[in-house]
Amino acid sequence: MATDYDAPRQSDEEMSEDSIEALKTRRHDKNSGKVDEDETEAAESFELPGADLSHEELAVEVKPRQEDEFTCMRCFLVHHRSQLVDEKNLICADCA
Ligand SMILES: [Zn+2]
Repeated sequence: MATDYDAPRQSDEEMSEDSIEALKTRRHDKNSGKVDEDETEAAESFELPGADLSHEELAVEVKPRQEDEFTCMRCFLVHHRSQLVDEKNLICADCA
């Protein structure tokens, strides 16, 4: 009876092991996929505000001249076009 008792137990264990393995594999797949998504989401939500901020901050220096702005050749500050008093030399009202 012991072997009879053991036999189904073993197959039970095997079966549960199999299902556990399957679950593990499925879980792992699901988890890794989820983690990737989360990481991507986190990275995106992290990057977007940071990128926006640095872009906003850098916009003044990286894009010195916009439609209505100019860079003064003397103080190298970006001024609104209304501050441009010497259009030839690009001198702002402060430096003129
Ligand atoms: Zn200036």
